[in-house]
Amino acid sequence: MTERIILLCLLCFLAVLVIVFRRLNRRLQAEVDERKKTEQELVASEERLRTLINAMPDIVCFKDAEGRWLEANDFDLKLFQLEGVDYRGKKDSELAAFSSFYREAFSGCEVTDELAWNKGTLSRADEVIPCPDGSYKTFDIIKVPTFDTQGNRKGLIVMGRDVTERVRVEKKREEDQRFLQTMLDSISDMIFYKDTDSTYLGCNQAYASRYIGLGKEQIIGRKDIDIAPDRNQAALYRASDLCAIEAGTSYTLEIELTLANGEKGLVEVQKTPFRNADGQVAGVIGVARDITERKRAEQELRASREAAVAASRAKSEFLANMSHEIRTPMNGVIGMAHLLGTTELSPEQEQYLENIENSANSLITLIGDILDLSRIEAGRMLLENVDFSLRRCIQELLGSQQFQINQKKISIHTEIAEDVPDLLRGDQLRTRQILLNLLGNAIKFTEHGGVTITAQLVTSEENRVLIHLAVSDTGIGMPPDLLERIFAPFEQADNSTTRRYGGSGLGLAICRRLAELMGGRIWAESGAEGGSTFHVELPFLLPEQTDRQQERNCEQADDVYQDRPLELLLAEDNLVSAQFVHKVLSRMGHQVTVVGDGRQALDCLADRSFDCILMDIQMPVMGGDAAVRIIREQENQRGGHIPIIALTAHAMDEERERLLRQGFDAHVAKPVDIALLNAALRRLL
Ligand code: ADP
Repeated sequence: MTERIILLCLLCFLAVLVIVFRRLNRRLQAEVDERKKTEQELVASEERLRTLINAMPDIVCFKDAEGRWLEANDFDLKLFQLEGVDYRGKKDSELAAFSSFYREAFSGCEVTDELAWNKGTLSRADEVIPCPDGSYKTFDIIKVPTFDTQGNRKGLIVMGRDVTERVRVEKKREEDQRFLQTMLDSISDMIFYKDTDSTYLGCNQAYASRYIGLGKEQIIGRKDIDIAPDRNQAALYRASDLCAIEAGTSYTLEIELTLANGEKGLVEVQKTPFRNADGQVAGVIGVARDITERKRAEQELRASREAAVAASRAKSEFLANMSHEIRTPMNGVIGMAHLLGTTELSPEQEQYLENIENSANSLITLIGDILDLSRIEAGRMLLENVDFSLRRCIQELLGSQQFQINQKKISIHTEIAEDVPDLLRGDQLRTRQILLNLLGNAIKFTEHGGVTITAQLVTSEENRVLIHLAVSDTGIGMPPDLLERIFAPFEQADNSTTRRYGGSGLGLAICRRLAELMGGRIWAESGAEGGSTFHVELPFLLPEQTDRQQERNCEQADDVYQDRPLELLLAEDNLVSAQFVHKVLSRMGHQVTVVGDGRQALDCLADRSFDCILMDIQMPVMGGDAAVRIIREQENQRGGHIPIIALTAHAMDEERERLLRQGFDAHVAKPVDIALLNAALRRLL
């Protein structure tokens, strides 16, 4: 029984043992499986790491504490041609012994490794490494030393990235910058650039030394308020920086600067915004140019110009005065000669008289020409804009030259094209002056044959017309080389011209200047067999009224005036001049009352009415200016308007303008040209 019990107990114990054993066995099996799995994962992870390291386009290399190569990635092996070489366990110096390439590639590595060890942490430097193809590449080499817990050297990880391109770009940028800076420094203008806060980013040598008086490196990163010699201007500089920055365009200002040496200088500063890669304004570039000298030169130029203008004005005034001084006695000579001509004279006396008249007329013409030329050259010839009849103007011209034409027994033709509008708006006096000169020359230089005046319409646009006028003759003609020269002052065909035909050589010079002043042109043609043609093209406006209507008005006015004897009041203190004008106008059938000053003219006007007053300007007791002012004031109260023509020796345009402003209606220069006086009367009455 006991044995059975013991056997049973043994069996139970065995069963428990088996169970425990099985369990233990299962757990063990699980642990073995776990470890196997971990090992497999470790292998896989290592495999992945290795693949990764090998796939990297960088140098990766592991060395032990003594600097022996443990492992290197594919890139490293390929770069140093270590594939197939038993490099593991070798030091750099041992590898260097293999070949000259290795010697060059690995020399110095142990030194830099040692530096990394000594530093104890990551060290980094650009190293130039030779390549098998003979080229060199720059690598950014990182060395990471590792230590065990006791601080003993464990291993060294070496990594390197090819930065050859980056280094090349940086080098290029550095070169470009150096080039740019050299260029900026070679410019004498002061140049600076700032960011949007007006902090200096850079400047050139001129700016640093001439203005700020510091080195460039002391300027960069600072503001005007810290470094500008005239700090009180810093706010102005900032404001002008902002003008350019905010507007996004250049801003220019003139500033008086205190330079580094304490001198004052006037500069013109142009501030131009510059932009970053995103197109945003990133700052401002300033170029300051010293304009002290330029300003001084400008001032001198202005002063000399003013002096020249004053001299020219003085010359014109001198000419005007001289012309006045010469014209007044000449007026007497011409007037008296004219009156003498109406008395009984012997043939010999008549000849003398003719000589006196010719000489006096030449002198008056010469004075007029010189005065005209000086006025045009001084830019003081003002053009007038009046409506006039071109046909009548030509007829009057022919009328004024009739005597000479008859004397020379030459024929005169006029051919005015039908489409030439008769009423034009422009400077009638200057047009007449040009034509008179050309006609006078044509008659003067023609002994046989005749003279033809033609007028044609060249263009017509809205209210503007271009008229071509030509004066042709069958006279002596001109050689081709003279055709242009004759338009220069004092130019004549040759010296014999003056002796034979007279003249000063000024007429055509004046014609050309007048034509150009009017916006037109003048030129000459001459045939081989003699004869000349002078062409003038002049622009005119067309009057606003319908042409026919105005033409009719004009004709009617003309008729009325021509039919009607006028009641004229002549105020003139110069007896000779008064006698002459009185005589000529009386002979034309007009009733002329002569008084000696403005006061008498006013008295006369109080008693009687007149069609027109001819008023001298400089008179004793009361001059023409004062008299006209009183007459116009009286008219303001009572109404009415009597035409008043000023008779003056001052032929200047300014004088004419002044007289018109004073209240005169027209102006005729003395000695009185009866044709001009008639034209003025016709226009006013
Ligand atoms: P002036 O006739 O007073 O000498 P101009 O300037 O009018 O001055 O003319 C300059 C020169 O041009 C004349 O001296 C003459 O030699 C030449 N000339 C002008 N018109 C004619 C012409 N119709 N025929 C020939 N020569 C002329």
